[in-house]
Amino acid sequence: MSEQYVAAIDQGTTSTRCMIFNQAGRVVVSDQKEHEQIFPRAGWVEHNAKEIWDNTRSVTAGALAKGDLSASDIVAVGITNQRETALVWDRTTGEPVYNAIVWQDTRTDAIAKQLGDLGGGADRYKDKVGLPLATYFSGPKIRWVLDNVDGAREKAEAGDLAFGNMDTWLIWNMTGGVDGGLHITDPTNASRTMLMDLDSLSWDEGIAGEMGIPVSMLPEIRSSSEVYGEVRERGTLHGVPIAGILGDQQAATFGQACLAVGEAKNTYGTGNFMLINTGTQKVPSKNGLLTTVCYKIGDQPTVYALEGAVAVTGSLVQWVRDNIGLIGSAPEIETLAKTVEDNGGAYFVPAFSGLFAPYWRGDARGAIVGLTRYVNKGHLARAVLEATAFQSKELLDAMNADSGVDLTALKVDGGMVQNETLMQFQADILGVPVIRPVVAETTALGAAYAAGLAVGFWQGEDDIRANWAEDKRWEPNMDDAQREKYYRKWKKAVTKTFDWVDEDD
Ligand code: ADP
Repeated sequence: MSEQYVAAIDQGTTSTRCMIFNQAGRVVVSDQKEHEQIFPRAGWVEHNAKEIWDNTRSVTAGALAKGDLSASDIVAVGITNQRETALVWDRTTGEPVYNAIVWQDTRTDAIAKQLGDLGGGADRYKDKVGLPLATYFSGPKIRWVLDNVDGAREKAEAGDLAFGNMDTWLIWNMTGGVDGGLHITDPTNASRTMLMDLDSLSWDEGIAGEMGIPVSMLPEIRSSSEVYGEVRERGTLHGVPIAGILGDQQAATFGQACLAVGEAKNTYGTGNFMLINTGTQKVPSKNGLLTTVCYKIGDQPTVYALEGAVAVTGSLVQWVRDNIGLIGSAPEIETLAKTVEDNGGAYFVPAFSGLFAPYWRGDARGAIVGLTRYVNKGHLARAVLEATAFQSKELLDAMNADSGVDLTALKVDGGMVQNETLMQFQADILGVPVIRPVVAETTALGAAYAAGLAVGFWQGEDDIRANWAEDKRWEPNMDDAQREKYYRKWKKAVTKTFDWVDEDD
């Protein structure tokens, strides 16, 4: 019999990819397509869901063609997706009633505040859903659509509308759409809506009621790894079982084989997302982290995670490239940083849209502090890179405090981990080794694992662990006094960004 593979569809914020993996967990072939970022006004970010569905079909066909493969070579397909991005569509026509409202969109600020004003403030639902009220999550975005699209509320109440994150939208279409498409999601995606009870993994009717969302719109919550159904007849992957769903950051955690309590990964992309596996225990955060579902494999017990989210890391490199012209390409930040020994006393706090974890300060704005005549562009390049490392250190400290477990190593992935200067400084500042795996595509790999486990392509977690391989490791090489001084100065720099936004800004 010829070799068989698992396909993963990675529906991300800027692009959609199809990656095909072999049994060793290595990428065999992939295809990718970007989609339009729609900015109707300041603070609003939308995606055209039909464009995303078209791109999904196109990259799936593209990957098969590049690899000279057909559906019969693929034993299962898994889905991973940008989390929180919310879509409402008409299940009788298959037409979205509005563009998908993206996770970064801030239009639901007033809705979030009104809900908090019912009592309890931002933490009103935190015990049940693990999240503070914020514009980030899906629930208030659904409410906005029902309040603002003509006729949407009536249709929703009549049972004609469906809600989904991108996993749900793609699977509904892949399984037939208006002709019997499955309306499902998994607990990792559902745990970012603010509507799911973290203990029972079911929709909380009380919260949905307060948000004005009919429960009939919500998808069925299945596990993250089981055969949900097969791809429709006219699909490129006709007949292939759809067998895994994980939100992107949880997929990366799974793909990094963080399968035991206390194992953590940090993804360095546009922003940084650090997740630590807390096992079957749901750990509430006292330090500005989110409590979320890490994965649920078939009918095994739910595994939870604590998550720290930093808004601006890799996007600061883009900012100094595009807005300032300090460098011509992202990798050049390293070349420039290497022209000097250290930051020359300069610290760059990229609080461009306030500060997320662990501060959650909407009133902060960006600052470069510690400037003297001595500081040159090399020092600033170092300060740009160090900002990512310091912000990650703050997440790690919050995790250690919340989980009561001190991390002994950190697995990393994402676009910025090609930067060796950053990785060495990260190890130095954390005081623990930083480890990069051979397969950097951990998000797609995690979704492939979830699907492959469900059909027996991989037997269990041991196969995932066995496939994980270290590419490179950076050991801490900085004395304690130096580390403490850098970090103390960083913390001081952060305080200089607070309280910048005024009422009339
Ligand atoms: P995302 O999945 O969030 O789109 P990626 O994981 O593809 O992001 O990472 C891209 C980010 O990494 C960009 O913000 C880019 O500025 C940054 N980046 C890419 N290469 C480097 C590099 N060599 N040094 C520093 N930053 C980099």
